[in-house]
Amino acid sequence: MKIICVGRNYREHAKELNNPVPDSPMIFLKPDTAVLRENKDFYYPEFTRDLHYECELVVRISREGKFIQENFVNTYIDGVGLGIDFTARDLQSEAKKKGWPWTFAKMFNDSAPVSEFLSPEDFPDLQNVRFTCHINGEEKQKGHTADMIFSVSYLISYVSQFITLKKGDLIFTGTPEGVGPVHVNDRIEGFLEGKKMLDFHVR
Ligand code: MG
Repeated sequence: MKIICVGRNYREHAKELNNPVPDSPMIFLKPDTAVLRENKDFYYPEFTRDLHYECELVVRISREGKFIQENFVNTYIDGVGLGIDFTARDLQSEAKKKGWPWTFAKMFNDSAPVSEFLSPEDFPDLQNVRFTCHINGEEKQKGHTADMIFSVSYLISYVSQFITLKKGDLIFTGTPEGVGPVHVNDRIEGFLEGKKMLDFHVR
């Protein structure tokens, strides 16, 4: 399986990192070795001094598809959950300066903790979903998928023109504003429509 992520999909987040609002989706991948499940502890990597959380709505792909039309995307999703797109912001800034890809800033081991998945039937409109991220009990991010620049169905349709999607692939749909650093012993919690989905510690 692979993880497909979109950067800068919320205006306010693009602004907080001084990035322009994109006119087409800015896509990157994470390998399967990035997935961290079951709320296991995340170990702060030694190669960064500025690790950031980015809480995101995640959808799981149910079957193989390419050139998926936007109005059929819902038949390719079998799960909705939350994930953290961990980012080594210092390595990312260096890569941006050099014009290099974000490989080691975004794609390192365990950089994609994901929750369990709920049935898409519980989410009749994926552009009307609210989620929050709490660090040590304090609400840091408050997302509403209505604020996405590119909708979930557009993103999946767009990506599937270039990359065949397969059962079990995960789509990270971008983070709202409020990203920030995490530290050893921090507790990260993520809530999807008020239901706790993520609850793990940085060690
Ligand atoms: Mg992200």
